[in-house]
Amino acid sequence: MEQMIQGKSRATWQQEYPILADMTALRETFWRNPRKISTQEALAQCPITPEQVADAEARLQRFAPYIAQAFPETAAQGGIIESPVRPIPQMQQALGREGGLTIPGSMLLKCDSHLPISGSIKARGGIYEVLKHAEDIAIQAGKLSVTEDYSLLNSDEMREFYSQYSIAVGSTGNLGLSIGIMSAKLGFRVTVHMSADARQWKKDLLRSKGVTVVEYTDDYSKAVKEGRRMAEEDPKCYFVDDENSVNLFLGYAVAARRLQRQLAEQGVTVDEEHPLIAFLPCGVGGGPGGVAFGLKLVYGDAVHCFFAEPTHAPCMMLGLVTGLQDQVCVQDFGIDNRTAADGLAVGRPSSFVGKTIQPFLSGSYTISDEKMYHYLAMLADAEDIWLEPSALAGMAGPLWLLGSRQGQEYLKDNGLAGKENQITWMPWATGGNMVPPEIMQEYYRAGKAHIG
Ligand SMILES: *Cc1c(COP(=O)(O)O)cnc(C)c1O
Repeated sequence: MEQMIQGKSRATWQQEYPILADMTALRETFWRNPRKISTQEALAQCPITPEQVADAEARLQRFAPYIAQAFPETAAQGGIIESPVRPIPQMQQALGREGGLTIPGSMLLKCDSHLPISGSIKARGGIYEVLKHAEDIAIQAGKLSVTEDYSLLNSDEMREFYSQYSIAVGSTGNLGLSIGIMSAKLGFRVTVHMSADARQWKKDLLRSKGVTVVEYTDDYSKAVKEGRRMAEEDPKCYFVDDENSVNLFLGYAVAARRLQRQLAEQGVTVDEEHPLIAFLPCGVGGGPGGVAFGLKLVYGDAVHCFFAEPTHAPCMMLGLVTGLQDQVCVQDFGIDNRTAADGLAVGRPSSFVGKTIQPFLSGSYTISDEKMYHYLAMLADAEDIWLEPSALAGMAGPLWLLGSRQGQEYLKDNGLAGKENQITWMPWATGGNMVPPEIMQEYYRAGKAHIG
């Protein structure tokens, strides 16, 4: 008998949502979100408030003196973990050539690949959540107050204090790196539950920092589930719940307020006449969801956010298209969740993120693994910027909007047609800086092999 998905057959779902045919056939596809509303309306019904994001930003500021000491590579930025924004004009040209068109306006790359400490977007949410927890328990124990200089945390006494507590997380790799490195530095005992697709070097690196790594033969959802279960048995263990965490989301959202200052410093205007279009690689959803939410808070209707997912793991798109959120996984539709884009190898989306971001999101598209590798090599050649495969998912965005009928309709319907020269295209480069050079060379060779 045919397997039913929430009471309906796969064929019925496909009739209702024709895009599912592309998705199940693993074809690259573009989806425009029919539930997007104005930013103002979306904010009015949103459970997360601007005050919460401001609070997260203030917390990171309080920790800055500690971070500057504990991670000297951040000292020059005063202990603020932030990444550069870089124009990529050669890549813009090369991409346009490939798509048989000219990409007007300017393309800026947000280089979260080069965030200090853990070299991926997870250095925002993951580290924020650990710091929030560390602050909460230290304040509760009377060992810290918000008016103090947090560099006092960089002491044997405080490391001893934190060593009574443990932190656990389930991860495909990068979240584990961020949580593991930060928690171990503070003195916590930390366990990372890694899915089968996690890279060996990430496990090795974590073990070298004193992190306990538990390996699973199953995918990400299983690693999270097991991690959560084991943490529940220990009252002094805090579980970082990538599928549901508001704190992670807030840590990511802070990015937008800082980006606003960076763009202003670089003389880049963002307003109704000068739209910003961001393309965010999406796994379980927290990273891109938090950043998109932050961007909408800062720029309102002048910013347009699209998610990008692998053709083999389009979990968020599936949850949003069908409205089923986390009640569906890609495997239900015969999609295998096998992708080299390890940060994106997630079969079931966060329902918290899906529901929160739905009214803000412009749309989403899928990209093949081959294309991600291809763009990896192209970007390395064009700009000498080196990313991991996942981080290239955003690169296809301008071609979808300019080169497809649906994309062009989106531009027209949103008053962007005729303003193309004033658009800032921003692919979000979500990781890469920690990749060992020999593995990066393998990625590069794979990318070159796919060309022509
Ligand atoms: C985790 C990750 C993402 C996506 O973040 P989610 O919160 O899982 O959606 C994108 N790119 C890279 C490199 C990542 O590690």
